[in-house]
Formats: sequence, C-alpha cells, structure tokens
Amino acid sequence: MSKSFLVDTTLCTACRGCQVACKQWHDLPAEETVNRGSYQNPADLSFDTYKLVRMREEVIDGKLQWLFFPDQCRHCMEPPCEATAGEPTAIFTEAASGAVIYTANTRDLSADEIRESCPYNIPRKAEDGTLAKCDMCSDRVENGLQPACVKVCPTGAMNFGDRDDIMDLAQERLAAAKKKYPNAMLLDPEDVRTIYLVGFAAHRYHEFAVAAARHYGITRQAALRKMFRPFNRAIAALG
Ligand code: SF4
Ligand code: SF4
Ligand code: SF4
Repeated sequence: MSKSFLVDTTLCTACRGCQVACKQWHDLPAEETVNRGSYQNPADLSFDTYKLVRMREEVIDGKLQWLFFPDQCRHCMEPPCEATAGEPTAIFTEAASGAVIYTANTRDLSADEIRESCPYNIPRKAEDGTLAKCDMCSDRVENGLQPACVKVCPTGAMNFGDRDDIMDLAQERLAAAKKKYPNAMLLDPEDVRTIYLVGFAAHRYHEFAVAAARHYGITRQAALRKMFRPFNRAIAALG
C-alpha cells in the first residue's frame, strides 16, 4: 500500500522539532544563519536542509495570524522531476511506498532543469551538482517506522500512513478545521503524497504552497530530449 503524509498546519506551533529530527536522522550539518527579522531559520531549503518550517506573520481580517508551513517534498503521484530526468538510476519512485528518491547519479543531470520542473520548488543542489531533498525517510519506512519528522511532532500536525487512511484523515481534519477556519482547504490532495491542510489562502503561506502552474510538467527541453532519446541512442549505438 502506498504511503502519504498529512501536514495539518492548523495544529503546527512551529516548534521545529520536525526540522531538527530530519537533520539528525540524515546526519545533515547545521547551517550558518543571520537574523533576518524572522524566526524562520535557515532562510530556505538547501542541499543540507530537506525540511524547513516556513513562518509568516500576516494581518487577516484585522487580526494578526502566524502562518507556519513545514515545507518538504510532496512525493508527487506523477513526479515532473522524475519525468524530466528520464534516468531511473538518478530519480525514481519506490514502488511500495511511492517515495520519490534521488541518488548520487543526479550529479549527471541538468540540475537547473530538474529544479525548474518541480512545481513546489523543492530540489536543491550541492556544489558538484548533486541534487537532494526529502526521501520520505524510506529506510525507516521500509522497516515499519514512521518518518523522523512525524515521529517527533508533538501536536499531531505531522501524520503518515497508508494513502487511503491519510485521505480519510485529511477529510476528517478538514471538517474539524473549517469550524475555526471557514476557508480551510487541502492543497493538491489528488496529485501529491504530502498533503497540506491550511486555514487560509495558500499563497499567504508560501509562494510554492500549491503547484505553480508555470512550473508544472516537464520542461520543453526535457520533452524534446525525451522525444529524440531513442534516435540519439540508435545513433550512438552505430558508433
Ligand atoms: Fe509543526 Fe510538528 Fe514540525 Fe513542530 S514538529 S514545527 S508542531 S509540524
Ligand atoms: Fe519531484 Fe518536486 Fe514532486 Fe518532490 S515535489 S516529487 S521534487 S516534482
Ligand atoms: Fe526529512 Fe524524513 Fe521528514 Fe522527509 S520524511 S522531511 S526526509 S524527516
């Protein structure tokens, strides 16, 4: 049974336990940061930060609201990054869980093209061009454990399980959230395995909270390359 997350932002307190647990489990270093006038820290995702609790303060209907958005890969049902790469040794979907996995072979891909193809602006590259992002803690999941970020979340904001169960939970939580937040909604639930529940309009949380239409789908260059790949291979084989 494939897996999914439900990230119920209406329950998130921005404690950042998930962000730290992600670093701990993947043995990722801390990053040097500066005070930018926000509690969000570091400023963005990176090759060393797969999970980032984004924070915004917004005045909505005359009331100050704290908007927290624990950002991570959505593990898309039909991942544009995987289609753009067209190289299963570099980017592939794990059959059992549905996790979209990046390997060290991503350094041979066009990092900018892969990044451009992601509608949620997730992958980040190292200096040598290798790409990295959330891997759904697939080593934990394969062994029957919860992803590290879910395991540590103290409020019930992070949830993980079989997709059908998570879809049911998403509807239950949405109904509960609507009592306090009439405009509450699920973000792209049919298209992704990391489903966010938000209390206010998605754009208030983060530019890439929902799929950015202009980024969606594989890039034009990748589409052309895909189209000509069989011919290129045949020509290469002829020497
Ligand atoms: Fe929010 Fe849970 Fe992450 Fe804390 S651990 S920041 S409550 S999602
Ligand atoms: Fe790929 Fe981006 Fe979808 Fe993650 S969110 S699977 S990086 S396209
Ligand atoms: Fe990090 Fe694992 Fe959570 Fe992905 S699932 S954000 S890799 S802790």
